[in-house]
Amino acid sequence: MRVYYDRDADVNLIKGKKVAIVGYGSQGHAHANNLNDSGVKEVVVALRKDSATRKKAEDAGLKVMDATEAAKWADVVMVLTPDELQRHLWEDDLRDNMKEGASLAFAHGLNIHFRLIEPRPDLDVFMVAPKGPGHTVRSEYNRGGGVPCLIAVHQDASGNAHDIGLSYAAGIGGGRAGIIGTTFKEECETDLFGEQVVLCGGLTSLITAAYETLTEAGYAPEMAYFECLHEVKLIVDLMYEGGIANMRYSVSNTAEYGDYTRGPRIINDQTKAEMKKVLDEIQSGQFTREWMLENEVGQTSFKTVRARAAEHPIEEVGAKLRAMMPWIAENKLVDKEKN
Ligand code: NAD
Ligand code: MG
Repeated sequence: MRVYYDRDADVNLIKGKKVAIVGYGSQGHAHANNLNDSGVKEVVVALRKDSATRKKAEDAGLKVMDATEAAKWADVVMVLTPDELQRHLWEDDLRDNMKEGASLAFAHGLNIHFRLIEPRPDLDVFMVAPKGPGHTVRSEYNRGGGVPCLIAVHQDASGNAHDIGLSYAAGIGGGRAGIIGTTFKEECETDLFGEQVVLCGGLTSLITAAYETLTEAGYAPEMAYFECLHEVKLIVDLMYEGGIANMRYSVSNTAEYGDYTRGPRIINDQTKAEMKKVLDEIQSGQFTREWMLENEVGQTSFKTVRARAAEHPIEEVGAKLRAMMPWIAENKLVDKEKN
């Protein structure tokens, strides 16, 4: 596996280009502001005419255009709108308006890998995918660091796509942490698997099931919240720093014994077989087809599940307890007014 750092990238390449960041959400605000702070003079945020986000971008001192206008203007168009809408953005605003020989860039491989977007042959198509939430991409950069990024080239029309991508990745701070070479297929499939099985789906299901088990057995919701949610961060910090062994070194022997003897009963062969099924659905494109279909019908069941999940008692007790821990909000990553 090839890893690149600032010294391997020519940051001047991206500084000399007109860069349009389409979307100003989690990733969009981070890319636009980081590039701007890295000395890319011509950064524009592209938004819909009626976008409520427009004010946030302008308040940050960034110029805003609509997507068609930005496509005609830019040398590099980074697509940071939600994955499920990118196909329409491509068809309505980008396909017929991007300059001959420009670069089309993504932060996730889904639309290219599953052929929802078939890019024009004259374009460079690359991916710079930070391995972390957009808010962390911004906060790490501000601290003088960066979030590791993946880089991949799908189409190299100019012969320069990789260098432009590397330069872009360095501009958002990736070169301080490592820019890892991959392919659209590998990034897309491992990313979907990780978020479904561990990071989002696996973790939230584990936490809520354990919370329910304790509260149904009569324990205080506050205790259940601390044990099953709050402390996850403390344990994850130890693993992040030094792997699973580091965490086991720090916890008590009692906790460690319980880990070895009970953990494999929770995540067992049946769970692993199900993980393999989830992976098969990703690889075959079944998951992406299902998700795009859900979007065709206005995300009805998605929105219902989201609303129901937000009403779970764990959210209520959590809000109450976090209000008693003001230091959490002082260092918060997400400020809905600004990003
Ligand atoms: P988001 O939902 O936070 O933000 C999307 C933005 O796009 C919003 O500002 C929205 O107003 C805007 N938008 C929607 N339709 C638009 C249109 N037609 N024209 C212009 N703007 C439009 O999205 P996100 O989570 O930042 O994800 C963006 C991309 O980054 C996705 O490809 C995602 O997979 C990838 N990614 C995200 C993260 C993350 O931290 N969230 C991490 C790695 C990669
Ligand atoms: Mg992801």
